[in-house]
Amino acid sequence: MIPDHRKDWDTYFMDIAYMVSTRSQCSRRHVGAVLVQGKKLLGTAYNGAPSGVPDCSEAGCMIAEEYELTMVDGKESMIKKQRCVRTIHAEQNLLLFTDRIDREGSSVYVTDEPCWTCANMLANSGITEVVFHRPYPKDSGKVTAMMGQKGITFRRLETYEPPRETAAQIEN
Ligand SMILES: [Zn+2]
Ligand SMILES: [Zn+2]
Repeated sequence: MIPDHRKDWDTYFMDIAYMVSTRSQCSRRHVGAVLVQGKKLLGTAYNGAPSGVPDCSEAGCMIAEEYELTMVDGKESMIKKQRCVRTIHAEQNLLLFTDRIDREGSSVYVTDEPCWTCANMLANSGITEVVFHRPYPKDSGKVTAMMGQKGITFRRLETYEPPRETAAQIEN
């Protein structure tokens, strides 16, 4: 018997999400998301400015500063964080470019754990599973709790390794 060296489906779809993320023009974050029904790919999206509007590579990132409460050495501290608000997040673009009927009972594979706003929108979009790779600790607690309340399977591919050619050059 010839051994089956094909990738499992989780790896297959997460690889596609990472390939899609390479389309992003934001130098701070490359996020890709795909919609999957069964084993069928129904849509792809990445983070970017609305089409026809200058993106981060042309106009630069649009930086917003905010303070975030984090634990440092067991103590709560306020840390100033910067993020780019020019782009529509990959998960939101995925919802804008797919049909509700296709989303019912589908899975979303996304390179990064969704932020609170995206998670809220995904929860109301008809999908029943979210699979992600890179953690986003800031919103993780409340996002995980909400997914549980909603009955959406929410899981991280912990041992997954992205295709090397998709490794993004990210400025921090
Ligand atoms: Zn940007
Ligand atoms: Zn988001």
